[in-house]
Amino acid sequence: MLSVGDNVDSYCLKCKLVLAHVILFKVDGVINRVKCKTCGAEHKYRKTMPGVKKTAVRAPGAAKVKKPAAAKVPVNDAPLRWDLRSRNMPPKTSIRDYSMKDTFKVNDVINHSVFGIGFVEKIASDKSIFVLFHDTVKLMGMNVS
Ligand SMILES: [Zn+2]
Repeated sequence: MLSVGDNVDSYCLKCKLVLAHVILFKVDGVINRVKCKTCGAEHKYRKTMPGVKKTAVRAPGAAKVKKPAAAKVPVNDAPLRWDLRSRNMPPKTSIRDYSMKDTFKVNDVINHSVFGIGFVEKIASDKSIFVLFHDTVKLMGMNVS
């Protein structure tokens, strides 16, 4: 533990360098004031050059690497989209009971006995459709005789 009168490295504003200083006094065990052994100036103790933030040194490179990695994580946005669709659904929308024997088209609203309300998002083929249900998008059959 350094005491008053000991040498300590401190940043000197006049010399603009971290140089040997003499500890003039301490407050609550913390070095408060020092005297530069080079120029003789008395000033507040600074361990490093002021104005240099630790985060500024490494932030630019680190941030750029992290963003693409986070974007790759697959996100199931079906609940969000379903919620939006059901809230924006006009009150008079006709909801058809789903049957794989029927034929559906994009934007049809269906009611499935197990999965509930679904929105036809895409025609996958002449016998299948992508339906947005409340938790996920499912590939459902249609026009199957
Ligand atoms: Zn100095």
